[in-house]
Amino acid sequence: MRLVLLGPPGVGKGTQGRRLAAEKGWALISTGEMLRDAASKGSPMGLEARRQMDAGLLVADDVMIGLVRERTSQPDACSGFVLDGFPRTVPQADALDAMLDERGMRLDAVLYLTAPEEELVTRLTGRLECPVCKRAYHRVNAPSRDGVHCDDHVSAALIERADDVEDTARKRLEVFRMQTSPLAEYYRRTGRLVEVPGVGSVDAVYGRMRQVLDARQPTIG
Ligand code: AMP
Repeated sequence: MRLVLLGPPGVGKGTQGRRLAAEKGWALISTGEMLRDAASKGSPMGLEARRQMDAGLLVADDVMIGLVRERTSQPDACSGFVLDGFPRTVPQADALDAMLDERGMRLDAVLYLTAPEEELVTRLTGRLECPVCKRAYHRVNAPSRDGVHCDDHVSAALIERADDVEDTARKRLEVFRMQTSPLAEYYRRTGRLVEVPGVGSVDAVYGRMRQVLDARQPTIG
């Protein structure tokens, strides 16, 4: 199954996508993570991307489309993939349809996770991440056992993403509203969008996603 998780920053795409991909044996393709990886390795593309990310802005469509074209053709993505953070613009969505079409494939569903904006700001500005497994924590609402290290990697100190500071988080939400939210209509028109409330516990949101997917799976094999 090939799936897009659409939704604003902080809504839980990464957390839910990771769990779903692991359970189903699909590849999790997180474009934000790919860019942070490239930036930490110091490649010219990565360093340019970091400038955009730190300002809360989007990286150029052609760069993103190239990355996703290559990543989705790798062997681990053959049996299915979950896209977290791509597409974020209409040209990216067009390119995704075209690249799948070239390969005789199609996108099976787009799950649109939603939550109120003030809740997203609270989630983003309290978010901490394990540098090893990328598991997300929250300083107040979901701290790790000792509040400092990952529960699963006890020597890994949790880190805060540079773009989770409040000003940048708000900028990212504005960019989502302006550039990415039109994709909901784009996918609704073609019958691929399913809206899933992203509020409540991680388990509750995951349960809603599974219900949607289980209902669709018989028709898409
Ligand atoms: P994320 O980890 O999904 O929150 O993404 C972090 C940042 O990476 C975004 O704020 C953008 O600067 C950049 N980014 C990730 N995915 C894309 C994309 N599909 N198009 C443009 N920029 C992206």
